[in-house]
Amino acid sequence: MSLMINEECIACDACREECPNEAIDEGDPFYLIDPDRCTECFGHYDEPACIGVCPVDCIIADPDNIETPEELKYKFQQLQTEE
Ligand code: SF4
Ligand code: SF4
Repeated sequence: MSLMINEECIACDACREECPNEAIDEGDPFYLIDPDRCTECFGHYDEPACIGVCPVDCIIADPDNIETPEELKYKFQQLQTEE
């Protein structure tokens, strides 16, 4: 499933460069995760890289974007064809 950033975000920018899918962008007032690009790091890392670096633990599962491992794999493969 895609992750989301909640209102605890302090806009520290630590997560943006960690994302292998360029799914994270500056938002106002909080950073945002593009659900079309977030694979929960499937295909890159065992754990979501953004969660590992967030100092305030504000990156959580998005209940509106539940996806199966197969769907995450498909999204990962689609993103690979972009480059
Ligand atoms: Fe990017 Fe991975 Fe975080 Fe999703 S879980 S936003 S792919 S770093
Ligand atoms: Fe916001 Fe956490 Fe990303 Fe910092 S690491 S910008 S607090 S989501």
